[in-house]
Amino acid sequence: MKIDTGYIEALIKNPDASHGNVSSILDKASLGKGLNLQEAAALLSMTDEGALAALYKKAGEVKERVFGKRIVFFAPLYLSNYCTNGCVYCGFRSANGSVARKALTVQEVVREARALEEKGFKRVLLVTGEDPRWGLDYIISCVRAVYDDTGIRIVHVNAPPVDTEDLRKLKASGAGVYQSFQETYHRPTYEKMHPWGRKKDFDYRLDCMDRAMEAGFEDVGIGPLLGLYDYKFDCLSTIAHSIHLYERFGAHAHTISIPRLRPAEDAAAGEAPYAVSDEDFKKIAAVFRLSVPAAGLVITTREPAPLRSVLMHIGASQMSAGSRTDPGGYTGGEKETLEQFSTNDHRTLIEVMRSTIHEGFLPSLCTTCYRVGRTGAEFTEKTSSGQMEKFCQANAILTLKEFLFYSLKNGSREAVQGAIERALADVKDPAMKKAIIEKLGEIEAGKRDLYF
Ligand code: SF4
Repeated sequence: MKIDTGYIEALIKNPDASHGNVSSILDKASLGKGLNLQEAAALLSMTDEGALAALYKKAGEVKERVFGKRIVFFAPLYLSNYCTNGCVYCGFRSANGSVARKALTVQEVVREARALEEKGFKRVLLVTGEDPRWGLDYIISCVRAVYDDTGIRIVHVNAPPVDTEDLRKLKASGAGVYQSFQETYHRPTYEKMHPWGRKKDFDYRLDCMDRAMEAGFEDVGIGPLLGLYDYKFDCLSTIAHSIHLYERFGAHAHTISIPRLRPAEDAAAGEAPYAVSDEDFKKIAAVFRLSVPAAGLVITTREPAPLRSVLMHIGASQMSAGSRTDPGGYTGGEKETLEQFSTNDHRTLIEVMRSTIHEGFLPSLCTTCYRVGRTGAEFTEKTSSGQMEKFCQANAILTLKEFLFYSLKNGSREAVQGAIERALADVKDPAMKKAIIEKLGEIEAGKRDLYF
């Protein structure tokens, strides 16, 4: 994988954001087939308020065409904050003496996962720092234990790049999506931000998704860490990365995450060198949605609640909720000093769900596609052709019903029940509606884990 820096810089310097060009790009985007880099660059350069409003509207429409009204929820589960890298923006960096270090035992990981399951989560993302003492074998043991000893249905992994053979082993453990973020695709900035440790190797990291797909991961997650460098460069490079994966493997990135740099305890870089404003952040979300419509667009709890609500309308499709970024945080209430970064949305899962419903969306705890093999090229094909939305809608309804029956302890029942009823009324295909109603009855009769 190569990033054509000269070409991307030229696009940023001379974007064609004329009215006529932008409106024809938005027309093309309506088809849900994505945009090329030139078109994405034109949209990223927009500043006119009216044009931005049209961009946001289009992004919301395309998201709904591809995934329906659902917003999928997941929780990160931090395994260990030991790290041998020196990333200047991260609280886990090895030189940070003030952070308390902890690596969960496999039993503690299971306890954390059970605590998340108790709240209603069905998908977790295991996250860890880079330290050979808690390397791949440890991560694999954690993945296996979560499957064996909890009701969590899919385990995704955000872990440092490794070789193809190790990625093959990780895949064989049942891991769903493999994530590793490039942080910045701008080589000189990357070198400044990663002064030591294995992560210093820009190319090894950049090629990791190719290795992952060669190793059998059909779904991979990529993303920039916004704020390290010019967002236009990093967004266009991320889109180029996804296009590269599509051209080589037939599948776009399964997810694109767009974390913004947040302050971290004793990180060497206090402020983001290229801070991204809320307005630009909204534009970035919309441009990713239109450029790579097949990808899940992930917004984490780094962002504040009101902005997360706005982002639901302009392309976001997956969100974390109730997150702790400290190992053991869901069970032990460990000290804040274990955190990788500070979160900005401290609401619980049900609070975020309620606000999702209030915004007119449908919370979902679905994990189906990974488990029925609707992955990789097939996932890209189904999402791009508009055939995924019916599954997303149906499975959101079923998982919400299960949540209502088995996880929701008190309060909010009316809101959740109302959302289920409205979503069911929205299902247009009579055969699908009938099938959903039957499965809802089965859930009421005691069955779980039903899906399409
Ligand atoms: S049906 Fe597939 S794409 Fe839709 S929410 Fe479920 S797992 Fe995600």
